[in-house]
Amino acid sequence: MSHIVLEARDVRYRYPRGREAICGISFHFRRGEKIALVGPNGAGKSTLLQMFNGMIRPDSGMMLFDNVPMQYDTASLRRIRRKVGFVLQNPDRQIIAPTVYQDVAFGPTNLGYSEAEVREAVATALRHVGLVGFERRPPHQLSGGEKKRVAIAGVLAMDPDVLVFDEPTSGLDPSGSEDLMELLDELNHDGKTIVISTHDVELAYPWADRAILLADGQIIKEDVPDVAFGNTLFVRMAHLSVPTLLELSAELAKRGFTIPERKPRSVLDMVHIIEQHHARGSCCHPEPGTITVCNVDGITAGTIPAWVQARPGIVAGAMGTRAKQCAAQEQIALEFTYGVIDKCILRALRGQDSLILTTGSMVSRVAVRVETYCKESGNTISVASLDFSDQSPVPGDEHGGQHGTL
Ligand code: ADP
Repeated sequence: MSHIVLEARDVRYRYPRGREAICGISFHFRRGEKIALVGPNGAGKSTLLQMFNGMIRPDSGMMLFDNVPMQYDTASLRRIRRKVGFVLQNPDRQIIAPTVYQDVAFGPTNLGYSEAEVREAVATALRHVGLVGFERRPPHQLSGGEKKRVAIAGVLAMDPDVLVFDEPTSGLDPSGSEDLMELLDELNHDGKTIVISTHDVELAYPWADRAILLADGQIIKEDVPDVAFGNTLFVRMAHLSVPTLLELSAELAKRGFTIPERKPRSVLDMVHIIEQHHARGSCCHPEPGTITVCNVDGITAGTIPAWVQARPGIVAGAMGTRAKQCAAQEQIALEFTYGVIDKCILRALRGQDSLILTTGSMVSRVAVRVETYCKESGNTISVASLDFSDQSPVPGDEHGGQHGTL
């Protein structure tokens, strides 16, 4: 069991001249978890989130960070705000400086970093959110999605353990929302605990490790998403709706399909259930395609396009901000920019090849996901490594993977 990073013990809060917004809530979050607080407008999500870094002090009960009760003096609040970064729903309320650099530098400067440390922190944060080159831009001239990324970079520059996002995708278009959710996955993959609030069940269900359904200032249910959202009574009490994938799997179960204990969280899971039902052991499956993974770090310009051109019919996807930027620079058309691994597995199951561009530790994530899927489904899909920088193999590349060559 991993370490508890944030805990609430029976917290309550009433706004001055308002009604009780948080009515006795307890929970704990473990380090590295992805948590979704899900509830309708007015449920108390924002109020609760603001307790996580001391912006709101509960009237009774207590909040703990790293098992230590939060204190509300200035020095303690400074410490907690460094550890728990908060990204507001509206980036215009978070961004205060006239340039992107100055805005992202604000936190580390306030923390007393040296000039060189501030430069390093800003550069790292901007790289993470894909805004290298935006340093001198005035934030008010940026798009909604870019502003959101500036706000996130400002928080990341203080290297917090926990990142809290109030309605992270509000105001973003569908593709901006997908990019943002992928950024949250990337940050989580790098070890951050991520908490989001949302009323969007379709967003929360496949993303979260744990969902907390909230209504009228109380927790209705807290569990893994398929359990939390799987009970229509809880969902109705929280004024929410059942995620489409769960609704569909319930319908298929009624029609005699075998639904695994771990309910489908993706189109890939759903396809697996349907295929198992219709074609268990039958002959109509093509030979699976190969998924090739390319670490774009340190890649020489032109190598990937040449590799792709030599393989007609292959499609590419990119995971992570740096990989997407590399694809743009190299003018590689991306078929997949979100849920990339599952989409490439689906392609492989149709007998078609794909290329995944990514970076660093995300490379091994591809092999692990494919391996897990193959173990669960009994399929065999090859993962090949295309690492032009050091030709090192993909960890877990046991499915007949090979090194790509030009
Ligand atoms: P959510 O984020 O789930 O939409 P909120 O935390 O914003 O919910 O609000 C919870 C309750 O607290 C609502 O009844 C809301 O009207 C009330 N509330 C929120 N902010 C204030 C405020 N500044 N003053 C008085 N009441 C407030």
